[in-house]
Amino acid sequence: MKLNQKGLLIVLSGPSGVGKGTVREALFRQKSHDLLYSVSMTTRLPREGEVHGREYFFISPEEFKERIKNNKFLEYAEFVGNMYGTPADIIEQNLQDGKEVVLEIDVQGALQVKAKMPDAVFIFIAPPSFQDLKNRLLLRGTEDDENIQKRLAKARRELDFAPAYDYIVVNDEVNNAADRIMAIIRAEHAKCSRSLEGYFRLLEEEDEQE
Ligand code: 5GP
Repeated sequence: MKLNQKGLLIVLSGPSGVGKGTVREALFRQKSHDLLYSVSMTTRLPREGEVHGREYFFISPEEFKERIKNNKFLEYAEFVGNMYGTPADIIEQNLQDGKEVVLEIDVQGALQVKAKMPDAVFIFIAPPSFQDLKNRLLLRGTEDDENIQKRLAKARRELDFAPAYDYIVVNDEVNNAADRIMAIIRAEHAKCSRSLEGYFRLLEEEDEQE
């Protein structure tokens, strides 16, 4: 029985290269929940195989600036020379419709969402070790040396922000990490602060029927 009818805003965040994308894909393969991925906008150029509207909406820096001016982002941040942002419009309606909306964003963005929507669930995806993060960025082979060094330096600083989150999930193995996130989603729905109102409503309806 689902007492909390409203969907959760789930913020998956953590350093670049930690495997947020793969964990999110594994989470979405678990069909037991109605999850919706919020596709971000970026001024970064598409990598090979990336599709507009699937990984990102790839837009120009001018268009990005225009959207900032018109308040169209829930949050946005500059990351290693490019802009990334979460479109604000689809989020609230989907939460009202009971969908769990998943954001996959960097640490600066997560802190902005926390200030605006403290009710969201903040999950820090952490690497098993810093060496592991380094290996992943190198193996991914999508970035040049300079970019990798910048991402690593940034990642080191970002690890210090873990205490600002509600949960920390170590990405030791992708499916394990996804399972832990699903357990968090279930537990969050059962929290009294989210579900007691629904439960009392249920009791009142029962009283009325008697
Ligand atoms: P990448 O260039 O590797 O796709 O992404 C770089 C970083 O930007 C990653 O840490 C990714 O999670 C983050 N990111 C992706 N979309 C957004 C967004 O909408 N907002 C913020 N703040 N960060 C994002």
